[in-house]
Amino acid sequence: MKACTVSIGNELLNGQTTDTNTSWLAGRLFDAGIITVGGWIVPDEIDRIAGALKAAAEQADIIFVTGGLGPTDDDLTRQAVADYLEVELEFHPNILDDLKAFFEKRGKVMAEKNRCQAYVPAGCEILENLYGTAPGFWCQKEDRFLAVMPGVPAEMKRIFDKEVLPRIQKIHSGFIVVSGKVRCFGPGESTIAQKLGNLMDRSRNPLINCTCGAGEILLHIVAQAQNRKTAAEMIDRDKKMLSTLLGEWVYGYDEDSLPAVIGSLLRQKGHTIALAESCTGGLVSKMLTDVPGSSDYVMAGWVTYSNEAKISQLNVPAQLIENHGAVSEPVACAMALGAAKKAETDIAVGITGMAGPGGGTEEKPVGLVYIGICMGGECFVEECRFPATNRDFIRRRAALAALNLVRLQLQI
Ligand code: AMP
Ligand code: MG
Repeated sequence: MKACTVSIGNELLNGQTTDTNTSWLAGRLFDAGIITVGGWIVPDEIDRIAGALKAAAEQADIIFVTGGLGPTDDDLTRQAVADYLEVELEFHPNILDDLKAFFEKRGKVMAEKNRCQAYVPAGCEILENLYGTAPGFWCQKEDRFLAVMPGVPAEMKRIFDKEVLPRIQKIHSGFIVVSGKVRCFGPGESTIAQKLGNLMDRSRNPLINCTCGAGEILLHIVAQAQNRKTAAEMIDRDKKMLSTLLGEWVYGYDEDSLPAVIGSLLRQKGHTIALAESCTGGLVSKMLTDVPGSSDYVMAGWVTYSNEAKISQLNVPAQLIENHGAVSEPVACAMALGAAKKAETDIAVGITGMAGPGGGTEEKPVGLVYIGICMGGECFVEECRFPATNRDFIRRRAALAALNLVRLQLQI
């Protein structure tokens, strides 16, 4: 079965509200074995809503509509769906009773404006909404199904799970979809894609999709099969194959994270770690300590932002900063060594760089970051030159790059 979504609301098209309903629904549908093949965001206008429904019906077996079911004059979804179905709106006295009771329960009297919410396109099944005033509805036009739900995400999610999903399960049979992820760090997207060759063929089953963010490359494997067991085996086979093909670039699978992977490696080897951060302002410490139980291996972290702090807290020689500058290879190394010594750890990380937006020079541009890794008293430094996109991006890239270097050291 294929699905399309139609999100309705002017606020979704003027930058005020992000359409989170589509991504949530697509995820839930995917888990139910239904692929979403398209989505529309349309304003509160009857013609545009009806137009999107027609276009969606050309591509999908089932259409999920959210928004525009409120009581105000800009809530036009009921009428638009009635137009699309070529039926009249029908008054449901029992919905009106429920609405009145909803307000009464909260010590309020229903406003006359809410009366319009008791109207539903003729022939639709009502989807009860216990959490708000707008009920949803479910119907069929020819061989296409339509689920119409309120836009408020919390209400929509509950109606979907309680009312819509059971209806889908009744009509949906056929292929099962199972997915898995292979997480890589190191090379760029194109290098990985080149290595994969025709494994990324669009007609392959499992299908492999590639996305990237802050240095991480995520390979998403989607398998379709007659049953869950076969699909899961296909995913496992692909994971093993990709892992062999991509070697040390692969740091984990599914919901693994770099800090969690490092955590297990540190624990396995009985190592401890300390962090000395400048431009990342404690981000690496934060990421590592986000993992429950990290107190077993994270000993200490310093944010030494000023030269004075680097000197007094980590014993970075003042002369080193004077000769090479705070953003330099020897200073990153001295920071790591200083942290390892002070915290008495086997491993330490030192990070110094230009996070911008100001302060860059030709020699030391914004995005230049030195990452020192000290292990067993030995230190090496990696010079990174990240695109000067923005401060957050550089800091996140730097923190993840540092974590990846630690991972590689631990995997040797
Ligand atoms: P409505 O059902 O149109 O009255 O929507 C009520 C509220 O739900 C809106 O004011 C939005 O804040 C929110 N909302 C509607 N559609 C979406 C959507 N697609 N994603 C996230 N929030 C939404
Ligand atoms: Mg609205």
